[in-house]
Amino acid sequence: MSNYIKPGGTIGILGGGQLGRFLSLAASRLGYRTFIFCPDEKNPASQISDFHMYCSYEDKKALKKFSQNVDVVTFEFENVPVSSLEYLENYTTVRPKPNILEIAQNRTKEKKFFNQIGSKTTKWLPINSLKGLRVEIEKIGYPSILKTSRSGYDGKGQCVIRSKQDIVTSWNKLFKKETITQSESPLAILEKVVDFDCEISVIVSRDLSGNVFAFEPTENLHKKQILLKSVTPAKIPKKIKKEAINEAKKAAIEIDLIGIMALEMFVVKNKEILINEMAPRPHNSGHWTLDACSPDQFTQQIKCICGLMSNQPIRYSDATMINLLGNDIYKTKKYLNLENTNIYYYGKETSLPKRKMGHVTSIKPKK
Ligand code: AMP
Repeated sequence: MSNYIKPGGTIGILGGGQLGRFLSLAASRLGYRTFIFCPDEKNPASQISDFHMYCSYEDKKALKKFSQNVDVVTFEFENVPVSSLEYLENYTTVRPKPNILEIAQNRTKEKKFFNQIGSKTTKWLPINSLKGLRVEIEKIGYPSILKTSRSGYDGKGQCVIRSKQDIVTSWNKLFKKETITQSESPLAILEKVVDFDCEISVIVSRDLSGNVFAFEPTENLHKKQILLKSVTPAKIPKKIKKEAINEAKKAAIEIDLIGIMALEMFVVKNKEILINEMAPRPHNSGHWTLDACSPDQFTQQIKCICGLMSNQPIRYSDATMINLLGNDIYKTKKYLNLENTNIYYYGKETSLPKRKMGHVTSIKPKK
């Protein structure tokens, strides 16, 4: 197991989504091959990777075989079992480390981590039962958000509680399903709803020599809790921008990151930053970097996990990235002859409502 992976080597990627597809493209530019491991045969990443295996993330025999054919493993999908990453570590190098994913997968661990390193989050409390929820909501107040500790993304696994009347319905909505592991403790967290000015994210990288670099903060607009649009640079005061970058760098160092990670934050009254969550992988809100930055987020990830020297990303232009969700993918004609606009199709066969099918980025000279 070596720290430096020579070009020509193979990068194993757990997950076969669009992030894996862009990682494969970046890897190929740097002379690496990629090996996609995921359960679903119809996926955007293996259409362009060198090798693939379609197996369950829990299939140890398959994982072992995969590990014997790669030089390093990373993940592009956040719900990969941590135990599978730990198993792979017996045979190959895994970057970022499995314990980082473990923190990111669990909202309680995530909030605790940020609070322990001195970063502010919204007021939150762990919740284990309906009875507990009734008590704790009086301390947090209304409106608040109940979020499952695990398996939440794109607004899934969360529910806004606006008044006492919403408590039981919200609880039942999240916890009547058999899919929730009852052994999880705490089952959920309750967060105060933040009255924010805007949501931003910062993508940060850290290489094997300990160099830490951050991309320009981007402003994110969500619709029904799904990212719709990212605008860079974010329209926030200079001081907040500096603070956001510092928060991201601090988290990367404290968690001992190798690779890249996105931090999502709320900007409150233009003077305070609250960390919402982290994703230790390339991020949708960093897609703009493909067109407006060098290196882009995927290249930076490949450099870091392969032990290459990384560098400060330079932003060449302002950028607006719009996600093409569901049937938006069939309405892209209007973008085709727009100047300075690039369309990306992820190669997904079926369009489902809210499914991320592609994105469009428009760039213009930096102001
Ligand atoms: P999350 O899964 O935590 O990233 O939540 C998805 C989206 O829900 C966020 O990007 C916000 O738009 C919204 N949201 C989540 N938590 C809060 C909160 N405590 N206050 C206000 N909005 C929130």
